[in-house]
Amino acid sequence: MERYWNQEIETMSREDMKKLQDERIVEQVKHVYENVEYYRNLMDEKGVKPEDIKSTDDLHKLPFLTKSDLRDAYPYGLLAKPLSECVRIQSTSGTTGKRVVAFYTQNDIDLWEDCCARAITAAGGTNEDVCQVCYGYGLFTGGPGLNGGSHKVGCLTLPMSSGNTERQITFMRDLGATILCCTPSYAAYIGETLHDMGYTTDDIKLKAGIFGAEPWTEEMRRSIEKSLGIKAYDIYGLTETSGPGVSFECSEQTGMHINEDHFIPEIINPETGEVLPEGEVGELVFTSITKEAFPLLRYRTRDLCVLSRKKCSCGRTLIKMSKPMGRSDDMLIIRGVNVFPSQIETVLIEQGYSPNYLIEVDRVNNTDTLDISVEMNPTQADSAGEDIQMYEKTLALAIKTMLGINPKVHLVSPKSITRSEGKAVRVIDRRKLHD
Ligand code: ADP
Ligand code: ZN
Repeated sequence: MERYWNQEIETMSREDMKKLQDERIVEQVKHVYENVEYYRNLMDEKGVKPEDIKSTDDLHKLPFLTKSDLRDAYPYGLLAKPLSECVRIQSTSGTTGKRVVAFYTQNDIDLWEDCCARAITAAGGTNEDVCQVCYGYGLFTGGPGLNGGSHKVGCLTLPMSSGNTERQITFMRDLGATILCCTPSYAAYIGETLHDMGYTTDDIKLKAGIFGAEPWTEEMRRSIEKSLGIKAYDIYGLTETSGPGVSFECSEQTGMHINEDHFIPEIINPETGEVLPEGEVGELVFTSITKEAFPLLRYRTRDLCVLSRKKCSCGRTLIKMSKPMGRSDDMLIIRGVNVFPSQIETVLIEQGYSPNYLIEVDRVNNTDTLDISVEMNPTQADSAGEDIQMYEKTLALAIKTMLGINPKVHLVSPKSITRSEGKAVRVIDRRKLHD
């Protein structure tokens, strides 16, 4: 039976949800206009007044906010509450540049943790569970968010943070962890370590994993599910909108339900800013309608995905977003072809390789080069040189079929590629150094 954390909200009719959103957006726009000079200026420039926003139908009239606005306004320019009412600061991981800081009132923290509690409950979590949180703790939102959600659900919480992987396994076994929360790349590493230590899935009690904070493929999901003997659920969020828990997967595992009572999603054409109809791929934009301290309106996430209102078998009526295939700025343009690292991951796992790889892009004599290093399987490790060349060729061909361009594949020794304990770094683009 499907369990909900907040059944009323999670299964609310579309009409009631829209009504709730309409009320909240009107209040939120007023709050922001009155308290955030930076956004007030953007609205004034566009000639929009708070009175023009009467419902979510008027959302498109509001100006966008981008990461560069957040950097310009660093640190206090988008704060909508006095610092005396704020109780917490978190920060982005800085994957794509200068860090951004976000502020929270106690109420903001409560709502955020509540969103994470919905995710844990959707993954089957109850107060009978032992929840091992190995997202990083500290400024990164992963650890604190899931930690708070786990407390709300009443799980026995193991605040491990990331790293010290053998100790993670020892605690997982000794304390009977049933739910694991971390990045998918770290989950893969934990699975690998479990087996390296001579254990099998029979030696642990894990049943579910809640993995997010970075892009991961369906192939990666199946590989983690097998190695840890669990069902792996996706969770999405970003510091700018509070952290993980903006959306979460249910038992159907065909996209993540967005907590629409707090966040209104839109999909736009990243080039023109035009709002796209449901079902089209574009950039995800969020308007937070309940946040007090750091209430971003129409924030451009740069994440590319699709929204769907198709009926979900879990009973939730919350709109779903597809797994983001990567950020618009993760996309590599190699010899004029658009390449997402996730496409390469798909091929590698399909071809029976582990998700440990490194993509290196450079420009030599005005031509882009694409080098992919992958660990060979233990069974291949003793092969003769010509066999290895043949494996490399076969893999290069499979990748070429997917991408349309020819990579150079290097099979390297098992365990020679650095494992990730947080967000994996899998791409090195050296072309940027020459520019
Ligand atoms: P940074 O921008 O420095 O990485 P965050 O730690 O706030 O800062 O990361 C948020 C970003 O992480 C999202 O915008 C998205 O690109 C990525 N992300 C988070 N969860 C997922 C997920 N489940 N699938 C794919 N990408 C994700
Ligand atoms: Zn569902």
